[in-house]
Amino acid sequence: KNLKKYFPIKGGVIQRTVGHVKAVDDISFDIYKGETLGVVGESGSGKSTLGRMLIRLLDPTEGQVYFDGQDITNLPNRKLRPLRKEMQMVFQDPYASLNPRMSVGELIEEPMIVQNTLKPKERQGQVIELLNKVGLNTDARLKYPHEFSGGQRQRIAIARALSTKPTFIIGDEPVSALDVSIQSQVLNLMEELQDEFNLTYLFIAHDLSVVRHISDRVAVMYLGRIAEIAQKDAIYKEPLHPYTQALISAVPSTDVTKKREKIKLKGDLPSPSNPPTGCAFHTRCPKVHERCKVDRPELTDMGNGNMVACHLYTNEQLQRIAE
Ligand code: SF4
Ligand code: MG
Repeated sequence: KNLKKYFPIKGGVIQRTVGHVKAVDDISFDIYKGETLGVVGESGSGKSTLGRMLIRLLDPTEGQVYFDGQDITNLPNRKLRPLRKEMQMVFQDPYASLNPRMSVGELIEEPMIVQNTLKPKERQGQVIELLNKVGLNTDARLKYPHEFSGGQRQRIAIARALSTKPTFIIGDEPVSALDVSIQSQVLNLMEELQDEFNLTYLFIAHDLSVVRHISDRVAVMYLGRIAEIAQKDAIYKEPLHPYTQALISAVPSTDVTKKREKIKLKGDLPSPSNPPTGCAFHTRCPKVHERCKVDRPELTDMGNGNMVACHLYTNEQLQRIAE
């Protein structure tokens, strides 16, 4: 709720704060139990920062995070520890996120040791079960991460994330570093595991095509804000926000009868240290009007739970003009 993360920019000889990168700039949304919420945006849109704040890997500058109705924003570590096992993250780069000096068995067992709820023998049994669940052989536990391919390493990272029996998993671009053919295998695996373990996912990607299959709803981020958050079908078939419309127009259509014109955006992504006034997208929006330059559009429910932050929809008169 109203999450913000501002990173100070240091400058000058005494390194004082000369500005802020507004990585996440006042974001509110819900994630429902059992769903997959896809979060899409260009690099620098704040999606990783948002994910890290949700599981308290990063403290927000302002705002609250609720987990199962409980405000966890300022929970001390002692009270956070039992919740830590509920929330796990799978990172983009399994090469960097797995300690190369630990065997696969040790990597999967480590979170269970930290949680200290199982006896050593039970932990060993869990390791073997998890390896099988992610499609790896039992003898993989004696090997080291470098002995595996990228896709297999991501399977190891997933098994490690599952080892504390979490209910909520954030995938921070978990398939972005993999070959396209391997991507769908890992996505399918994540879907199977979601069904089996009743997991809730926040799935971060920079590309709308990656989250298409796996998501129930999709949030589109632009410069630290949510431009649109809606059911998957609404996002892909009837995107409302001009930025979503541009992103969708770039996704290759599988339906040849519905060829879309590719919408080209002018200019580059502005710096998050100096975001445009009013609507952050106004410098590149094909439908910009005067109000957009001064007035920040709020995320507004379209009456069906789908929400968009754009003056074309928040003002009836303008909506008619747009039509
Ligand atoms: Fe474009 Fe204005 Fe809507 Fe922003 S508020 S997306 S600039 S039309
Ligand atoms: Mg990122």
